[in-house]
Amino acid sequence: WRRLTEGLSRTSSSIGDSVTGLFSKRKLDATTLEDLEDVLIQADLGIEMANRITSAVGKGRYDKMVAPEAVKAILASEVERVLEPVAKPLVIDPSHKPFVVLMVGVNGAGKTTTIGKLAAKAKAAGLKPMLAAGDTFRAAAIDQLKVWGERTGVPVIYGEQGADAASLAFDALRAARERACDVLFVDTAGRLQNKAGLMAELEKVVRVMRKVDETAPHATLLVLDATVGQNAVNQVEVFRGAAGVTGLVMTKLDGTARGGILVALAERFRLPVHYIGVGEGVDDLEPFAARDFARAIAG
Ligand code: GDP
Repeated sequence: WRRLTEGLSRTSSSIGDSVTGLFSKRKLDATTLEDLEDVLIQADLGIEMANRITSAVGKGRYDKMVAPEAVKAILASEVERVLEPVAKPLVIDPSHKPFVVLMVGVNGAGKTTTIGKLAAKAKAAGLKPMLAAGDTFRAAAIDQLKVWGERTGVPVIYGEQGADAASLAFDALRAARERACDVLFVDTAGRLQNKAGLMAELEKVVRVMRKVDETAPHATLLVLDATVGQNAVNQVEVFRGAAGVTGLVMTKLDGTARGGILVALAERFRLPVHYIGVGEGVDDLEPFAARDFARAIAG
């Protein structure tokens, strides 16, 4: 809880300080509510959400002093209501050996880092993970995954820079099978500049992995960087079309005042949210919990 509140402190202080500023000195009127709505929209919560919260706050409270704490409580409960249905753990189904998790997202979103963190969690849970350095486009991505592999003691299957990502994924899946791994995390390239190319590559990775296991991948996680704010909406749309996303991970919530975007995405797409990233360290990945998140961003 401490790590979560600290991680989300930029978002919560941006919302919380504004709410305190708006409600501590004057009685509630139409202007207060408009200002509140602006604060919530600025925090990327989305217009519908901002609207609902504002109406809930206004109900029966005109011309009264309203405690900032009461406003924050309404905010927290509205946010929780939207997040509750999407807060779902990533379940690694043991009937698949390995359970294949395809990781997608634009460059810099935090895919490689998240794979490292997930590998550590899988290991701590007594599972046998393996990593596939499927972002063959960037040498740095391959090296970075190897570093995570060393750090967590998890084997990494990799090839040369520029090698075919699909054949790497194929080799990795076969290797994971041979070594009786429980879960294989497959990194991918994220060049959004070339949407057609990206789509073709992801489709090929999936097609080729299915030659080894026709049910793979068993989860396709889209990693989103919270600091991009509203751009995340576009990223969900692109990757949902290209890769059949089954769940989300949102990173860098520690470095941004825009954590509200997670709420807007939940409301709009209703995709499961599995984890949130609150730092660069191996332990800075928290299972997503609706109530905790809602309370943390309400400040
Ligand atoms: P990729 O290109 O999608 O694989 O992204 P990387 O995993 O290389 O991450 C890009 C940068 O973001 C790296 O410097 C990471 O350390 C950093 N990063 C990833 N997740 C988080 C997070 O939750 N919080 C913070 N502060 N930084 C993160």
